[in-house]
Amino acid sequence: MRALFTKPTEDQIQRQLLGWLKAVCPNAVVFAVPNGEHRNKATAGKLKGQGVLPGAPDLVIAHDGVIAFVEVKRPKGGRLSPAQLEFQERCSEQRLPYGVVRSPGDLQAFLDDIGIKTRAA
Ligand SMILES: [Mg+2]
Repeated sequence: MRALFTKPTEDQIQRQLLGWLKAVCPNAVVFAVPNGEHRNKATAGKLKGQGVLPGAPDLVIAHDGVIAFVEVKRPKGGRLSPAQLEFQERCSEQRLPYGVVRSPGDLQAFLDDIGIKTRAA
């Protein structure tokens, strides 16, 4: 039996965010960037050749002419890696919305900031 107050994993938070988004912004185009999974050297090389980019965020959300990059982190402790910080910086330079999100409330605030309207707003 699972303990009642275990901290959610990043995977659990990401799933929660996707469910929330589907409910409050059903027309958004949303997809995950599966960068973080373990892979062997050959697969890593193949994916790199195909354009997989270290530090790319967990989710891409596009809605009504706005595109946003979302890095999912655990509520406490999860920090951006050097590659993620570099990606964030590149987004800043290109004036592209990039948010670090730890809960649906965070995601709501981020989407509000960048003008993506949701049913929850
Ligand atoms: Mg993440």
